[in-house]
Amino acid sequence: MTDEQLQQMVVEISQRDFQQPFLHQAYFNARLRTTGGRYQLESHNIDINPKMLTDFNEATLLGVIKHELCHYHLHLAHRGYRHRDTDFKRLLAQVGGSRYAPTPKQKTTQAYRYLYQCQRCGQRYYRKRRMDTTRYTCGRCRGPIRLV
Ligand SMILES: [Zn+2]
Ligand SMILES: [Zn+2]
Repeated sequence: MTDEQLQQMVVEISQRDFQQPFLHQAYFNARLRTTGGRYQLESHNIDINPKMLTDFNEATLLGVIKHELCHYHLHLAHRGYRHRDTDFKRLLAQVGGSRYAPTPKQKTTQAYRYLYQCQRCGQRYYRKRRMDTTRYTCGRCRGPIRLV
């Protein structure tokens, strides 16, 4: 999905579920890590974490967009736009927005930290811990191993 398609989607949801136009910009922001989306108070733009779509599905994306649109419309109307505000809770329930964005999958932590390579045959060895290269030799050719 492109930023243009996202923008179009936000405009449509705003009109259909909030009966009010979305007059600012929505775009994907891959730098969002722990949140599904963010409404920017200063610019009124909405950032959406692309993982809501890639890690989850369109229904998840929809819930997050509605959530951000609740912030958006309430803030512009000078009503309670924060999570703890009654206005926010009421509107969110009314449009069926998600209360919490699901946590994006974290990048799988690297399984190894050290890469060793045989100096003779080039065989690579991935290890989580350091190993004493004076005590170990290549399992394939018995050549010397060195940390890469
Ligand atoms: Zn929020
Ligand atoms: Zn070797």
